[in-house]
Amino acid sequence: MSVFFVVEKFVSINGEGQHAGELAVFIRLRGCNLACSYCDTRWACSYEAPAEQMTETEIIDYVKSTGINRVTLTGGEPLKARDIKDLLRAFAAEPDLKVEIETNGSVNIVPFAAIPNAPAFTLDYKLAGSGMEDKMDLSNFAFLQPKDTVKFVCSDVSELDKVCELVDTYGLAMKCTVLISPVFGRIDPADMVNYLIEHKRNDIRLQLQLHKFIWDPDKRGV
Ligand code: SF4
Repeated sequence: MSVFFVVEKFVSINGEGQHAGELAVFIRLRGCNLACSYCDTRWACSYEAPAEQMTETEIIDYVKSTGINRVTLTGGEPLKARDIKDLLRAFAAEPDLKVEIETNGSVNIVPFAAIPNAPAFTLDYKLAGSGMEDKMDLSNFAFLQPKDTVKFVCSDVSELDKVCELVDTYGLAMKCTVLISPVFGRIDPADMVNYLIEHKRNDIRLQLQLHKFIWDPDKRGV
């Protein structure tokens, strides 16, 4: 058995990603290797953050107790959690659970994607406004599959030029879902729509973080 440091576990709707609007069980693991300028879960990023210690069996039992079969593993950076492969293997052995893992684009996903019945990946690409773009592992783009998503969180409309360059260079829209999302409060989503219209980018989908509109943007556990 392995032990995981869970800073939050709750049921809510997926606020973003391919399954936005669907109920999911959220498991948030502590600790992150990046420090994005706009991070909205900074409190969870410390490897010292107060957390409940749970084994993979306890996590799966909790998930099953909710009666919800969709799971979002998030952080922090969940792929940096010690023994995370054990948790992914445990979930992979539960065919009724549909698991998605949110990762920050800096961690090589190949060893995790190779696990039979691996979760779907939602890979955030950190653009320049995050201050973390130099940490991105571009080799990940080659391993994305239709169940996966690449999400570009934009803090300035000018970053959309870089998004289009990456989507075209790596053929991302042919491999997986491509989403763009505004940093909440930093950029007007209407400007992003206008960009998509102007550049005729039908292959890129705008998404707003639903939970920030439904609840207080700083509210935890939703
Ligand atoms: S990768 Fe995510 S959790 Fe980590 S600092 Fe950036 S926004 Fe926060």
